Amino acid sequence: MGLRIVILGAGVCGLAAAYRLLENDPKLDVTVLESEDRPGGLARSLTVDGQVTDLGPHRIFTELPDVQAFLEDLAGGELETVQRSSRMWLRGGWIEYPPKPAEIARHLGIGTVARSGLSYFGHKAARLAGAGSSGAESFESLMTEAFGPELYRVLVAPYARKVWKLPPSELHADIARIRVSAGGLGQMIRKLFIPEKGGRLTAVKQFYYIAGGVERLVDKLRAGVERRGGRIVTGRQARSLRRRQDRTWQVNATGPRGGSAIYTADIMVSTVPVGDLLGMLLPLQPDPSIERMRGELRFIENFLVCFVVNRPQVTDAQWLYFPEKDTLFNRGYEPKNFHQSMGEKNTGMIVMEVTCHPGSKIWHATDRQLIRRCLHGLESTGVLREEEVRSTLVHRIPNTYPLYDLGYRERLEHIWRYLREFPTLVSSGRQGLFLHNNMDHSIHMGFRAAERILESPSAPAPPFYTEVSRFQSFRIVD
Ligand SMILES: Cc1cc2nc3c(=O)[nH]c(=O)nc-3n(C[C@H](O)[C@H](O)[C@H](O)COP(=O)(O)OP(=O)(O)OC[C@H]3O[C@@H](n4cnc5c(N)ncnc54)[C@H](O)[C@@H]3O)c2cc1C
Repeated sequence: MGLRIVILGAGVCGLAAAYRLLENDPKLDVTVLESEDRPGGLARSLTVDGQVTDLGPHRIFTELPDVQAFLEDLAGGELETVQRSSRMWLRGGWIEYPPKPAEIARHLGIGTVARSGLSYFGHKAARLAGAGSSGAESFESLMTEAFGPELYRVLVAPYARKVWKLPPSELHADIARIRVSAGGLGQMIRKLFIPEKGGRLTAVKQFYYIAGGVERLVDKLRAGVERRGGRIVTGRQARSLRRRQDRTWQVNATGPRGGSAIYTADIMVSTVPVGDLLGMLLPLQPDPSIERMRGELRFIENFLVCFVVNRPQVTDAQWLYFPEKDTLFNRGYEPKNFHQSMGEKNTGMIVMEVTCHPGSKIWHATDRQLIRRCLHGLESTGVLREEEVRSTLVHRIPNTYPLYDLGYRERLEHIWRYLREFPTLVSSGRQGLFLHNNMDHSIHMGFRAAERILESPSAPAPPFYTEVSRFQSFRIVD
């Protein structure tokens, strides 16, 4: 029998790791333990009254060549190219996204644009003259630097506050670097002053989607793992770890109705939230500072508020953005506009996303309250009328977005140092590395975990963690 490898979590990262291990060495003994009743993690789909939605629409797009080739092969011709179509609600009207600068100017009003331009160039001139600090560590300082104080105040700060529920001066600049630098709101604003050739802003104009939703892709990944001899055990939550004298691992995992089972491993890959993993390791190797930092790793949660309506289509857009504070939701999307297979012919569905901190007022809101507040916002922006709504559902996604506050990088550095002390355990994936990322990044990180195990089975973790800063530099290309 080959090495025993236990992988915690059957999201795309854990499945990709299992796939790559078995593809290279079919003799390996690979088990994936998943706490939910089916694989997929964040890349799962949900059915609401006959309509299907991903847990947040999962378009397929990558700049990583290894993942591109893998996905095309895995999907076997089922990836379909979709043209992007998004809109933004701004100052009482809709603008196309990505927008034309003239369209934004019309919506913001020429006074605001002129003031913003003056403030932007004034700020740049002051910088050249050496005024102020150039250290751009917070979201606020980076964005003020990029767009000027006025536009930052009018548009950027309210949206950041709305999504992250914290003052932008308390958010790390990486939030902007990961997302906005690749497109999104920030690029849109910058291009107000420096339009691109053709007068239109670049962003991803087309992407792949898979008929039936992202879980179809996960099904193919799961089937690939099982075909190569891997075991995927669902409904098993890893609770604690032990190390035996011979350095092997023992995972204690419980099922939904209690009862536990022990899994033995020579090597482990964990894709569960890194705080949960630390909770399992600290009893083996106590460290008070890691214990404290573990409590300081925070996530933002996302609620999906779904409205099924009695008409074939709600809007003609895939994504709708709501940067202003008068609506509860930040963003909405219409699954059928990603692919017709997502719903019945005469019925439509729109899904609104609401972010919140665990324990906050919104987090405690009842489903009924969330539905009412979202409905109010949808009516006031003219998206739908209450009498058209056939059914509703609220789905809560825990641990949706890692929250990058000002101290998060130093905290993670300490944590990686601590984890290096367990050379046969690799923590990877979005939750395992506390990364705000996309599926392609998680698949790549699963591959890299597998490749490190194949290269140096006696101690794959230290070389794996040398790649973390490269993973942190991945961008979500909007
Ligand atoms: C709203 C939203 C929209 C998104 N849109 C896109 C998009 O358009 N395109 C794109 O490419 N990506 C998108 N993403 C990102 C994508 O979903 C993630 O990057 C990817 O799915 C993360 O995979 P992962 O395997 O690293 O983590 P996860 O999917 O979080 O997997 C971790 C797994 O571990 C399991 N687990 C946790 N604790 C335990 C335990 N103790 N024992 C056993 N199992 C456990 C969990 O149940 C889960 O299945 C989006 C994400 C969100 C939230």
